[in-house]
Amino acid sequence: MTATLEKATTLQNGVPTPPLTAKERFGVLPRPDLSYTEEVARETAPIYEKLKDFIPAIEWPALAPYMYAINKLKKQRNAVILAHNYMTPDIFHGVADIVGDSLQLAKEAQKTDAEVIVQCGVHFMAETSKILSPEKTVLIPDMDAGCSLAESITGADVRKLREENPGIPIITYVNTSADVKAECDICCTSSNAVQVVEAMGTDRVFLVPDQYLAANVGRQTDVEVLTYAGSCEVHERFTAEELRDYRKVDPDVKIIAHPECPPEVVDEADFAGSTAHMINWVKEKRPKKVMMITECSMADNVASETPDVNFIKPCNLCPHMKRITLNKILDSLLDMSGEVIVDESIAERARASVERMINLKTN
Ligand code: SF4
Repeated sequence: MTATLEKATTLQNGVPTPPLTAKERFGVLPRPDLSYTEEVARETAPIYEKLKDFIPAIEWPALAPYMYAINKLKKQRNAVILAHNYMTPDIFHGVADIVGDSLQLAKEAQKTDAEVIVQCGVHFMAETSKILSPEKTVLIPDMDAGCSLAESITGADVRKLREENPGIPIITYVNTSADVKAECDICCTSSNAVQVVEAMGTDRVFLVPDQYLAANVGRQTDVEVLTYAGSCEVHERFTAEELRDYRKVDPDVKIIAHPECPPEVVDEADFAGSTAHMINWVKEKRPKKVMMITECSMADNVASETPDVNFIKPCNLCPHMKRITLNKILDSLLDMSGEVIVDESIAERARASVERMINLKTN
């Protein structure tokens, strides 16, 4: 994955020089002592209370010093840590300041006065934060944290689609690169896709790149929803047969699915919605047993807040999300590595695409 280069702004002997990197602007800090001391145990005890059902006691002395160090360091760096719902519980409950889906995170980050954003999620999420907060330094702890869905389409693909289909609006799911957002008419999330499709005021729209989200949205509207061949490697692996088998074993279980799953999987579910909607559904309905058909860390993160609900976990992990670890978060805060830079001409058009959606007030 290549981060685009920001415009060079200074001139030296008439020659443009590249802007300073985050490492040059902020400096590198020495690695702290990572021993499990009494102070670390005392300061991290409230976090352990939330995580004790998910992290074995024997592992805590190895993890707690990282949480302690990161929480101290983020104050020193005037940084805020954003964690997607698919982060592991040690990150989600241990060091994050803001949690949620990708758009919630980017919107909340705009409101903070922190100078630095550490994005615990995948690269397109960090780009979205940078697009919406261009004045902030955005770091991703692992530059290689990609996404099969975001990588299924490029800006050039969108331009070709437009040339071949003049007059049809192109909506992009927020799970795409800045380059793709810049070429599309408007963004959408899995929460507001139907409303965005209908707001275009045309009989046909393209909703790219997730073929399954587009198919699920197309069933909820009279607008013809054309799509592209992208998919999420985590959600497309679930099958309707698998869900029917779970129900045979446990007829009382409530099944809730993400709309990135194939339509036949959504048909087998009791409810389908975005990660934020799934979380709200569990918190409001409080089913005795629930199965979340999505990335499996999310169930752990919700389970710690809803101890009366029994989570049955069909586990599909996202290998990209799992690249983000406490160790890498610590490193990025120490050496300010993994800076995400978006060329301002792309960022401006991508921001317009995101803001058009926000201005529809669909969320
Ligand atoms: S869960 Fe799917 S959409 Fe989300 S980052 Fe992983 S591959 Fe991409």
